[in-house]
Amino acid sequence: MVHGIRLHAVGGPDRLTWEQIEVGAPGPGEVRIRQRAAGLNYIDVYHRTGLYPLANLPAVIGMEGAGDVVAVGEGVTSFTVGDRVAYGTELGGYAEERLIKADRLVKLPDGISYETAAAAMLAGMTARYLLRETYKVGPGTVLLFHAAAGGVGLIACQWAKALGATLIGTVSTDEKAEIARAHGAHHVIVTSREDFVQRVREITDGEGCHVVYDGIGKDTFPRSLDCLRRKGLWVSFGNASGPVPPFELTQLKGSLFAARPSLMAYTATHAELDENAQDLFQMVLSGAIKISVNQTFALKDTAEAHRALEARKTTGSTVLTI
Ligand code: NDP
Repeated sequence: MVHGIRLHAVGGPDRLTWEQIEVGAPGPGEVRIRQRAAGLNYIDVYHRTGLYPLANLPAVIGMEGAGDVVAVGEGVTSFTVGDRVAYGTELGGYAEERLIKADRLVKLPDGISYETAAAAMLAGMTARYLLRETYKVGPGTVLLFHAAAGGVGLIACQWAKALGATLIGTVSTDEKAEIARAHGAHHVIVTSREDFVQRVREITDGEGCHVVYDGIGKDTFPRSLDCLRRKGLWVSFGNASGPVPPFELTQLKGSLFAARPSLMAYTATHAELDENAQDLFQMVLSGAIKISVNQTFALKDTAEAHRALEARKTTGSTVLTI
């Protein structure tokens, strides 16, 4: 028996309970991992509250982790016992040990620690596909990134800088603004005292951005659309403040584009997952991207970590230690 955090019914952080869990032997195509660190991400909140309904409850939630392979199931040829591995798209992460499909795993390069992987797999692969695939950000791109001091945000600031783009970030406090700037944001708007639409207009000389990345949702809709130039792309990729309400397509003003992407869909095949992860590892190993683990909580205290994330008290990545 090992321990993990189980969700029995949707609700507040107090619904996350530390329990003994049975893991079992890996089935065909699966491996068993002894986890060394797990990640905390906003999607965990959506699973906990029921915004993203789970197929079955009770469930061990959490989508991200890193550790060592301790057993392999029938037909698994790409991993062996002792391999250092990580993942960011598979439910079941809040546990000391877990089973996982081998095709959802990647091997960890020597220079990447378990903690860095648990902090970066989900947020880093997300920043990567948003900036390199959903919109091909490059030199000359002007982009707005909401929650720029968050987990995805701090990685996006650095990645956008490495691509030669101009990133305008939004944050809620001056402390977060400092952190976003230190990670490469060119301009930072403090939403508690500045109107982000007006500031974007000023910063871009009235032009607006090529692309807006919005993980905040309800509170920033539809004003994010007002930050775009003609034919610009609005990327709605999350709901930290609640979901975007249904809207009329005419709100796209005759030339805007809208996208609602997800990491799971962008890394649905192992080849896509591997390409994305290798690109992320390369950026980290080269020093272009530093993964900021600004909070750690013991896995048994995951409820506290949820409270901090929802109260907007965290910056960068949060790791659950095991
Ligand atoms: P963050 O670390 O960015 O935390 C969320 C941040 O959102 C807060 O720190 C806060 O920053 C901001 N925020 C604004 N309004 C609210 C509110 N009402 N309640 C809480 N937070 C608020 O989280 P993640 O990096 O884990 O995720 C960022 C976003 O990206 C989330 O929406 C998440 O769902 C989404 N996401 C989507 C993926 C996809 O593939 N579609 C994959 C990964 C993440 P501030 O105080 O500065 O405003």
